[in-house]
Amino acid sequence: MKTAALLWPVTAKAAIDYNMPEIFANRPWHHQIPISLFNGSPRYQLEMNSKFGHIRNGLSQPALDDFVLASTEETIKTKKPELMLIHFVDLDSQRHMHGFSSKEAQDALHRHDHRLGKILEATKEAGIYENTTFVLLGDHSALDESKVVKLNVLFKERGLIKVNGAGKVNDWKAYCKSCDGSAYVYVSDENDIETKNTVTELLAQLLQERSNGIEKVITGQEANTMGADGSAFRMLEAARGFYFSEAIDGEYIEEVSEQDAISKRYTLACHGYSPEKDGYHTVFFAAGKGIRTGISVRSMHLVDEGPTFARLLGLDLGDTDGRVLEGILDI
Ligand SMILES: [Zn+2]
Repeated sequence: MKTAALLWPVTAKAAIDYNMPEIFANRPWHHQIPISLFNGSPRYQLEMNSKFGHIRNGLSQPALDDFVLASTEETIKTKKPELMLIHFVDLDSQRHMHGFSSKEAQDALHRHDHRLGKILEATKEAGIYENTTFVLLGDHSALDESKVVKLNVLFKERGLIKVNGAGKVNDWKAYCKSCDGSAYVYVSDENDIETKNTVTELLAQLLQERSNGIEKVITGQEANTMGADGSAFRMLEAARGFYFSEAIDGEYIEEVSEQDAISKRYTLACHGYSPEKDGYHTVFFAAGKGIRTGISVRSMHLVDEGPTFARLLGLDLGDTDGRVLEGILDI
């Protein structure tokens, strides 16, 4: 099939015909333009950038999504891909910066609605509207928070993290790796019972007071059964209103100010919480070819999406996680 993807996560170097991957220059000597170009389709990206680059302003929103939209419309009309993946980030960014239900987030939802309309229009212009299935989905929701939990501050105080003269970590026995709403605690030496005991005692102590921001602690093995990293010593879940940072300086708990969020030092909403958190679901809409109308899916999992899309494309993923959402299909 002819395929296209715009800023779709984890697509660097993928076998996609027209690929503008979501990949960031994350080393000081890397530059965003060559990183994007050589991990995707260079000619396609140069073409889109020369036509619509004027819309973009680095990675800032909503300009980035407007650039992606213009590239999407052009790709639909000129390439007519058989599978196209488009990742818009406007809503996610606004929620991080301004909060889940902020006016800025509401405005982003309206912009997404407008973008969706433009995509439908483009398929009509390309003459493929009747043959297209449209799916709108999220890979996560977000929750408001106003306090940052910095466990590494306590690890440093107990000598488990050592820093050099410039204040950078140069040795560690235990380290808290943040996933925002949750976090891992790694212990560098599997046989270091003393460090493990220190960490266990500290976490037990922190769990006693909700104001310490930790709601739940599970073992690496328990994390593994949930699909998370089993090589961690512990996995932590933040209490509502809190999230984790890896910072090693300042107080253990820090309040987030509006200025912190705008300057991107901290956020006012984030994700990475346990899927078991209340009211933390994302969305899934489907319409068009092969989709029955007026059906509500009461509950599903992200892993059901792959097998369902494969079925819509006339493919079969074989023995894989998830189930085909038979109830919504009319094929
Ligand atoms: Zn996000």
